[in-house]
Amino acid sequence: MENTTVKAYGAQTAQSSLAQMPIIRRALTASDVEIEVLFCGVCHSDLHAARNDWGGTVYPIVPGHEIVGRITKIGSAITRFKVGDMAAVGCLVDSCRTCDSCNQDLEQYCLNGFTGTYNGKDKHSGGRTSGGYSEKIVVDEHFVLQVPKNLDPAATAPLLCAGVTTWSPLKHWKVGKGSNVAVVGLGGLGHMAIKLAKALGANVTLFSRSANKEKDALALGADKVVFSTDLAQMQAAKGQFDLIIDTVPYVHDINPYIPTLRVNGTLVLVGYLGGLEPMLQSIPLISGRKSVAGSLIGGIAETQEMLNFCGEHNIVSEIELINMQDINEAYERMLKSDVRYRFVIDMASLKG
Ligand code: NAP
Ligand code: ZN
Ligand code: ZN
Repeated sequence: MENTTVKAYGAQTAQSSLAQMPIIRRALTASDVEIEVLFCGVCHSDLHAARNDWGGTVYPIVPGHEIVGRITKIGSAITRFKVGDMAAVGCLVDSCRTCDSCNQDLEQYCLNGFTGTYNGKDKHSGGRTSGGYSEKIVVDEHFVLQVPKNLDPAATAPLLCAGVTTWSPLKHWKVGKGSNVAVVGLGGLGHMAIKLAKALGANVTLFSRSANKEKDALALGADKVVFSTDLAQMQAAKGQFDLIIDTVPYVHDINPYIPTLRVNGTLVLVGYLGGLEPMLQSIPLISGRKSVAGSLIGGIAETQEMLNFCGEHNIVSEIELINMQDINEAYERMLKSDVRYRFVIDMASLKG
């Protein structure tokens, strides 16, 4: 088999808009599957990466790591999938598979560095990986997920990042019936955190800056909304939460949330990457044995577990379906917190 050239959408520089470009997909190895991308979710990380917000982006970049599609070819050693099956790919397409983390199904914490679905160091080509804003993707079967048949494929795509990124801390901190969970920020990750925490049996509160999102939050399953800019409401929320999942993408003051944790409670950062400002105060942590933690996506087995749970509980993302050509406008709307609650690209729009 030969390498194939496929259509994709990507950015040539940090300043440029995304536009159509060709990319190469590798010839299948024995353990690879080729997937025709049907739907790809738009994560805020795509925007950060396309604009080099974190540094380290290698251009051109083709984002997209919330992929659902149909298998079009399989390598000679594939047993779990056949041509025609629906399949999904999330944020990871490779890892060393031998280190302690990989041996514990924690590929996202691979001690030798995992390969991200885009802008990752591609072990096959020596270049960088290209993501799901493309017609096709070729992925080792270990990193390919099975999609529950009862779920809408477009609305399933965001589970691959927004879903598992919030599922992983909910499971790690053993959220279950009667747990008190709060979510900071109602966007892609935030709305999945509410749905998943609720389905696990927790009481769920949303912290938001946006008064116009209260109705939606309650409809998504939140029991309560606290406006983080209202001091009286923040004061009234004191000592309540076992776990706070903070999804805010930009630097923000996390000190006001610490008093709302219970003794032994944890605030886990999944959004912002970078130094905390203003400085984090230790006394409120020390005086309640509280923790501030971080969490990155989820491993492959955990992603499948989350997908199966969503299948059993009929959980999908709230989506706005867009065409590939609308991606730049979608990024601008994401910057204004104007997403309800995940853009998903209908990849049929890239054809023709
Ligand atoms: P999103 O859909 O844009 O949602 C972010 C939400 O945060 C907004 O809807 C808004 O909610 C709130 N917000 C935005 N700017 C804010 C600001 N300056 N101050 C306070 N709140 C603000 O983004 P997303 O796709 O959910 O992603 C969230 C973050 O998680 C991104 O930084 C992304 O890169 C990161 N991420 C991390 C992982 C991981 O593995 N840890 C995985 C995926 C994504 P309100 O209007 O309710 O305030
Ligand atoms: Zn993501
Ligand atoms: Zn590893």
